[in-house]
Amino acid sequence: MNSAPASSNHSNEETIALDRAHVFHSWSAQGALKPLVLEGGLGSTVWDDEGNEYLDFSSQLVNINIGHQHPAVIAGIKAQADLMATIAPAHAINIRGEAARKITDHAPEGMNKVFFTNGGADANENAIRMARLHTGRDKVLSRYRSYHGNTGSAIAATGDWRRIPNEYSRAHVHVFGPYLYRSEFWADSPEQESDRALHHLERTIQAEGSESIAAILLETIPGTAGVLMPPPGYMAGVRALADKYGILIILDEVMCGFGRTGNWFAFDAFDIKPDLIAFAKGVNSGYVPVGGVIISDEIAATFDERVFPGGLTYSGHPLAAASIVASITAMEEEGIVENAAMIGRDHIAPGLAALAAKHSSIGEIRGSGVFWAMELVADRDTREPLSAANMGKLKGALVKRGLLPFTADNRIHVVPPAVVTPAEVERAMAIYDEALSEL
Ligand code: PLP
Repeated sequence: MNSAPASSNHSNEETIALDRAHVFHSWSAQGALKPLVLEGGLGSTVWDDEGNEYLDFSSQLVNINIGHQHPAVIAGIKAQADLMATIAPAHAINIRGEAARKITDHAPEGMNKVFFTNGGADANENAIRMARLHTGRDKVLSRYRSYHGNTGSAIAATGDWRRIPNEYSRAHVHVFGPYLYRSEFWADSPEQESDRALHHLERTIQAEGSESIAAILLETIPGTAGVLMPPPGYMAGVRALADKYGILIILDEVMCGFGRTGNWFAFDAFDIKPDLIAFAKGVNSGYVPVGGVIISDEIAATFDERVFPGGLTYSGHPLAAASIVASITAMEEEGIVENAAMIGRDHIAPGLAALAAKHSSIGEIRGSGVFWAMELVADRDTREPLSAANMGKLKGALVKRGLLPFTADNRIHVVPPAVVTPAEVERAMAIYDEALSEL
């Protein structure tokens, strides 16, 4: 592993001991935790307290689209901190308006207002409230293979094990989305998968009663559930069904938005226009916690005369707003979204195809831009998922070689920052190759 000069006063062991004494971690049994220490980063590289470097092919929680420590974003935050570090949401401050304008510049026509939140979960939470208030209906349809965040309605809308503590929430209905590799619909082509998933969605709408359904909430490309690319016709079909039954569409672009797929929004690649868009992560790469909802003019107008009964102390926080303005400006000026598209097309796609040709443990590769998954199997014919024990070994083999991976279930998600270079992708592919060979 390469070594960067250590700049910390602490050893890794000291940092871990302090963490284990006082920090309660997310999504984990606390007892056996030994978190990887990180102290600093630049671009696609991070390092620990002792100067050991890692290629960050996780983008942390798939949120560092602009890379670590982008100087323009750090400078933007510092400048705003000197001017005014915090104000109440009821006041107007120029930087907040600028952030909202920068965001809506990349949204579809007729979506001109932004409600700011603290992150992605509360973005979905408030999008759901807006949809319910706008339609006067209650139910939200979402998918089993999805994650929408760890708060009330957002966790209830989530489809997998993560929703269990909230399973008693009312008015949430789940459907299966398309996923040809493990089709719920016995389909054997993308077109058939799309048609049958749409049929299942329409039958669910009818069975639930369309007049009771406020919104269909979808991650445009389900992320933590496996980078599940929508097959041809699916997204356009969802829009057509929503229009037929008078239901709103909320697209959750928290993970897939702001350049990750090689487009500003993931839905730019599909024939669908949402009514509400939930965003967070890539909007400012998480330099300051923020998220929000982009609202159609029609829905925003609902609240011209009527109070929207919601708000957050830090909605549109000036430091978050400054980081959004600096981040989107840098992405525009430096062609960072275009870089993500090029990297996906010319480097990650062929790199993963070469790995799949060599390693029979790779069952399927899928994705676009800097948003990819390798689905790993014990047997290519039966598609039996690679065991948790082998996934653990693989993860260890990658970290040992200086690559920070994103793993979920039986998958490695290949999700570097959108600023990643061809040389860094080449190095990562060599590391994936060695680790898969070791397996
Ligand atoms: N929606 C999606 C698609 C996500 O991937 C996530 C987080 O990973 C969230 C919502 C929740 O965002 P946050 O953790 O900022 O609340």
